[in-house]
Amino acid sequence: MAESTIEWTDFTFNGWIGCTRISPGCDNCYAAAQDKFRGWTAEGWGSGKPRRRTSEGNWRQPLRWNAKAAVTGMRARVFCSSLADVFDNEAPDAWRTDLAQLILLTPMLDWQLLTKRIGNANRMLEAMFPCGLPDNVWIGATIVNREELLRDGPKLMATPARVRFWSAEPLLEDLGEIPRDLIPDWVIVGGESGPRARPMDVAWAESLLRRCTTSGAKVFMKQLGAKPQKSGEGYEKSRGKGAVMIEWPRSLRVRQMPATA
Ligand code: SF4
Repeated sequence: MAESTIEWTDFTFNGWIGCTRISPGCDNCYAAAQDKFRGWTAEGWGSGKPRRRTSEGNWRQPLRWNAKAAVTGMRARVFCSSLADVFDNEAPDAWRTDLAQLILLTPMLDWQLLTKRIGNANRMLEAMFPCGLPDNVWIGATIVNREELLRDGPKLMATPARVRFWSAEPLLEDLGEIPRDLIPDWVIVGGESGPRARPMDVAWAESLLRRCTTSGAKVFMKQLGAKPQKSGEGYEKSRGKGAVMIEWPRSLRVRQMPATA
């Protein structure tokens, strides 16, 4: 866990590993597959399975990233967590308290807390940050279908984060009309990758980007996914996760970031 290959961040940090599938977006969970292969956790993924805290050395890494950012004057972004969920109620509260301390010690890092459990976020954030949420915390909700948009969109907007964002990856259907008051500051869009990837129609991504940009959100098209389609037909691209921008429709070639301090 260190410099990230994910296009919308600089570093990835996992304070612990392990989780339970709770969304259609979890069906092909990359972290669970990696855990099965590498045996990071003692009992694997799922409810009642203990989460595993990562090493003290790993927990010190963000201090180094912060020190470097302080020297260069260039803020850095940290995606937390790719192998767990920060707001998982089966992860000990004490670990979240430690994470909060780390965030407060690293003001040059913008912490991107992306969750599929946005319903837990406000309660847990209040316990993590009793003096208020610091400006270097961004809160994101994964939104893969319209049901999640209508259920979780309002919960995200009820969080006090300076930057609120969606990860619409894997985008599994056209999200349709979006109430204006649910549009966050930033929207990441992507099709699913991997051998069991589900298709994404490029029209779903086009309409989502259009709706968000006309409402003033910044948008970041990450990838078409392994099985892009157009009007029900396969969309031609080279092998892989569809991250070669030149192969995308022109309307999707946009990678914006939200404004930061
Ligand atoms: S929330 Fe994330 S880490 Fe947890 S099961 Fe779902 S995809 Fe995997």
